[in-house]
Amino acid sequence: LESHSTLQECIESQQMISINLKNGQRKIFPIFEQGNVSGLLIYEYVQTELIQSDEIIQAIAMVYGNHQSLLNHHQRDGLTGLYNRVALQNWLSKALNSDGIADRRADGEGSVGCFALLDIDFFKRINDTQGHLYGDEVLHVFAELMRESFRFNDQLFRYGGEEFVAVLSETDLDTALTVLERFRTTISQHNFAQLNQVTVTIGVSEIYPRLQPGKLIERADKALYYGKNHGRNQVNAYEWLEQGDLMTSSDDRLENFKLF
Ligand code: GH3
Ligand code: MG
Ligand code: MG
Repeated sequence: LESHSTLQECIESQQMISINLKNGQRKIFPIFEQGNVSGLLIYEYVQTELIQSDEIIQAIAMVYGNHQSLLNHHQRDGLTGLYNRVALQNWLSKALNSDGIADRRADGEGSVGCFALLDIDFFKRINDTQGHLYGDEVLHVFAELMRESFRFNDQLFRYGGEEFVAVLSETDLDTALTVLERFRTTISQHNFAQLNQVTVTIGVSEIYPRLQPGKLIERADKALYYGKNHGRNQVNAYEWLEQGDLMTSSDDRLENFKLF
């Protein structure tokens, strides 16, 4: 956008911009979603072409913006603003089939990123001791910390209740583990009012385009439940489990774990 000042101008003015070309015209229309410019429609024509009226193009942009907004609304979780389960299903069916990111690898065999399941530890206790409304607040803050910790192009979902998903595209397992470990620490050190500590257990698995969606979730879930059974507040990879490489219960982790 920085190198296209007319596009920038259209976003800022929220008005159609018209530019004369050598033998025609270019018109840039703003597309609105919930009152904000979310996209631009560029219409270019030469003098000999049949010209649509601005009103018709504006109407198309409006229908498009409304439709996009509805789709977005349908795919967002109301409490946290993250993508919801419907969006996750859409993503899985695209990424693990012939279109989407799988396309970029000719062999279709290599890993195209990492898939992490995150589950807040002993969340039921938080609800039980502080009330459901406070539990909701913890979920809200947790999602906010996810947005701050992960990269712009990572995709974040609320999978259900106190369970979240992070898709780290084009990221190898070592890098994903570093990012997830950093997030785990962020949560365990965050000062949640009225609570000593909130912790999260994370299971991660590499994404192979040929995997069935159910299988991918199952892999991350296995790594997650390994962590739940070995002291919580930790990150484990399915690939470690597969290699029989996982550490047995780590006592120092258990020692560090003090929720109340
Ligand atoms: P674990 O460490 O094994 O994950 O234990 P846990 O207590 O976190 O897990 P469990 O599955 O036993 O409980 C999850 C709780 O999350 C139960 C449910 O009432 C609560 N929950 C689910 N959705 C919401 C929500 O939207 N808001 C609030 N406040 N609580 C929710
Ligand atoms: Mg759970
Ligand atoms: Mg839980």
